Formats: sequence, C-alpha cells, structure tokens
Amino acid sequence: METIKRTKIVDVLKSTDFGTIVNVKGWVRTRRGSKQINFIALNDGSTINNVQIVVDLDKLGEEYLKPITTGASISVNGTLVQSQGKGQSVEIQANEIEIYGTADPATYPLQKKGHSMEFLREIAHLRLRTNTFGAVFRIRHNMAYAIHKFFHDRGFFYFHTPIITASDCEGAGQMFQVTTKNLYNLKKDENGSIIYDDDFFGKQTSLTVSGQLEGELGATALGQIYTFGPTFRAENSNTPRHLAEFWMIEPEVAFNDIYDNMELAEEFIKYCVRWALDNCKDDVQFLNDMFDKGLIDRLQGVLKDDFVRLPYTEGIKILEEAVAKGHKFEFPVYWGVDLASEHERFLVEEHFKRPVILTDYPKEIKAFYMKQNEDGKTVRAMDVLFPKIGEIIGGSEREADYGKLYNRIQELNIPMKDMWWYLDTRRFGTVPHSGFGLGFERLLLFVTGMSNIRDVIPFPRTPKNAEF
Ligand code: ATP
Ligand code: MN
Repeated sequence: METIKRTKIVDVLKSTDFGTIVNVKGWVRTRRGSKQINFIALNDGSTINNVQIVVDLDKLGEEYLKPITTGASISVNGTLVQSQGKGQSVEIQANEIEIYGTADPATYPLQKKGHSMEFLREIAHLRLRTNTFGAVFRIRHNMAYAIHKFFHDRGFFYFHTPIITASDCEGAGQMFQVTTKNLYNLKKDENGSIIYDDDFFGKQTSLTVSGQLEGELGATALGQIYTFGPTFRAENSNTPRHLAEFWMIEPEVAFNDIYDNMELAEEFIKYCVRWALDNCKDDVQFLNDMFDKGLIDRLQGVLKDDFVRLPYTEGIKILEEAVAKGHKFEFPVYWGVDLASEHERFLVEEHFKRPVILTDYPKEIKAFYMKQNEDGKTVRAMDVLFPKIGEIIGGSEREADYGKLYNRIQELNIPMKDMWWYLDTRRFGTVPHSGFGLGFERLLLFVTGMSNIRDVIPFPRTPKNAEF
C-alpha cells in the first residue's frame, strides 16, 4: 500500500480539500452495505465522530472485506469527497485498505450497542473503545488541562506533595499502609505492636489521603500553590461517589480568608464547567443525548447563578423545617450531624435550586486544622454542594494561631511528634491562609452526567476491585 501521512479523523472531518488523497487509521465501528458498495464507520479516538469510508466492491473484493468487522483495525488510503449522506460533511472513497488486526465477532465483546455500565466495567480494558467512554475520557483530559490553565493563569504554582506519607494525622480517611516488610514474619515488641525500625522508611508509612498539610508549607512560602495528584482512602464505602484511589486538586493560598476562599472555589468550578461547554461540545452533546437529557441545562444553570452562601446552622434549620413538613430523609437531621448526601442534595436541588456553599460547621465533625470561630463551637469550614453530586469541594480557612492549633491537636490526641513541621508554619511567620480540595472525579461526574464515579476514571479502584 502506498505510504501517505496519516490524518487524524478529527481533522479529516473538518477538511474541505475535496479530491485529495488522504490516509486515515482507526478501529471499525460498523460495516454495512450491499454487493456493490460497503460503508465502514471508522473511529480513531480523536473525536466522537466517525468518518465514513465508502468501498466499491469492484475495487476491493468481498472476500477482502470480510475480516473488516466491528473492532478490527485498518489503514485506509482514499479520496476525500463531499458526503451525500446526512449527518456528515465529508467521506472517503477507499482506494486501498490495509488490515492491521481483526476482531473475531464470536469473541469481541463490544458487538451490539447498549451494553450495561456494569458489564462495561468488567471489560474496562476495552470499554475505552465505546463512544461513551471515549467521550468521558476526552472530557477528563480537557478538564485536567483547564485546571492547570486556570491556576497557571492566576499565578499559582503546581506543587508536588508526597504520595507516601508518615503522618497518619490528616484525619481525612482510612489509610493504605506502605511497607516492604515480610508480612509472613512480622517482628513485634512485647506488647504485640509491630516494630517498624527495619521497614523501608524506618517507620510506619501510608499512601496520602490529602496533600493539604504539605500544601500549606508550599503556600506559606510561594504564596499560592495547588496540588493535583492521586489520593488514596481505604474507606469501605461502596457508593457511587467514592473511590479508593481518586485524584484531588488542592489550592492553598496565603493571606486568603474564608470569603476569598469561597470566591476562588466558585470562580474555579465555573471556569471548569464553562471550559467543558466551550471545548468539549461534541462529547458533552453526545452524553446529553444518550444518558442525561438535563446535562447541558444543568451545566449552564451552574454558570448563571451565584452560589448560595449559608452557615451550617441555617442549613440545619431548613432541613428540620422540611422534616417537620413531612419530608422523609433516610438519616436523622440535628445540629451536630455530619450531613449525608441526601441532605446536601435537598438543600441544592429542592430548596435553593442552585449550588450552595455551607460554612461554619461544628468543630467535632471537621478536621483539627480549621480556624476556630469565636463561638467556641464552630470552625471556618466550607463545603461546596452541587446538584446530583452533593459535596464536590471541602475546604476551610486554616487555624493560623499557634496556641489554638496546638491545643486542638492535644485535645484530639494527635501525636505531636508527627506534627512538629506543620506547627512550625505557625511558629515562624504565621499568616492567615485558606484552601480547599476538589475531587476530580466528582467534578467529572457533574460535567459528564455519568451517575457512577467508577465510570469517570479509566481503571477504578474500589473495595474488592483492583482489576486491570
Ligand atoms: P465525603 O463526605 O463525600 O466522603 P470528605 O468530606 O471525606 O467527602 P474531603 O476530605 O473534604 O472529603 O475531601 C475533599 C474532596 O475530595 C471532597 O469534597 C470530594 O470531592 C473528594 N473526595 C473525598 N473522598 C473521595 C473519594 N473516596 N472518592 C472520590 N472523591 C473523594
Ligand atoms: Mn469534606
């Protein structure tokens, strides 16, 4: 076959160079047709859209086309022509086709359309080749890019916090231990506690549940930083919103108070959502049409309104009134409770009908590092609550006062030996500062309209599942 430089399908579809010879390569979505003429829908992952290859059977015999079935990979040289069919502007009249690899119809699992999401999770290595997952993962890439651009354009520095950590005091969730010890023969002391002296790091270590504490070290030197990395939580909660391995974005800004923090969070999320609407049009439209007819409306809705800002105590009042009027929640509502996602969604979807930033939570249900309010009961926490998702961001103004932070650490019996470096930020040149964590996959759930978090990360890690 003649060697012609490959054009990606996304570019071919935009081209108007009719009459030129082009080469495209990709995977066959479908082949159909008659004894005279065949149509191959070809996709190479560069766009949700396929290019139609028109094959004249006088040119390429029927026998030759037989192995070109759904899933097969081919290279096509042909003439770019204006398309007669509807739904596409160009097509390619094939001159030559090379078959790279066949996909036996008897065993290739992606035959008919309409596989269940559950089934597709079992073949996560191949589900990437479906329209749906192609769309989701192109959007995932675009969102990652938008996030870096947002922060870079505003003078934030991308700060890499460690993945292996020796502090188990972050308090954000159950941790996965990291060790090179022989688990069949553990050395223990007289109390039965494992001795870590001879472990790789000489102490007990785990995978990080948050980069925040180290992020604060960055922010109190570089001014404004963000992290964007993998995060691990061994929470045994099999929900559609939790992964054991997920990606988190954590901006941290020196001199920001909680109001600046809320403004940043709102601007940031709106920027990401607008980016998806502007730059992922075909993919978002596809997901809207196939899965979630309200998706585009919901995305535009979030851009339109200011987010509600509401103290937790007010939020509880609204929920209690709803209960008094007969609204049924699965979990009880009272001051001090850690809100369940049904409560968060009630506030967002039914009461206010727009995103809500809930602030000033009871200190008992929030982390030790949050700035303590004058009332002695609440802290300057802020959670951003979203339609369909519930909590999408959790953040706070940090306690900048050395004495108050020290006392809180003691109250909670957090080992001081792990915290000396963190406390040093408050000992030397302490400043007010704030930050938050956005779960990347929660953002993707919102932007793609997918209903399960396992379907917005290529290879999900959840309890009892680490395949691929
Ligand atoms: P939740 O109450 O929903 O379990 P959290 O309060 O434990 O969340 P934070 O510790 O505040 O969450 O983490 C910051 C953000 O990280 C959350 O707002 C959420 O977007 C995301 N996140 C937290 N845990 C998970 C998880 N297991 N899988 C995916 N994203 C998560
Ligand atoms: Mn939270």
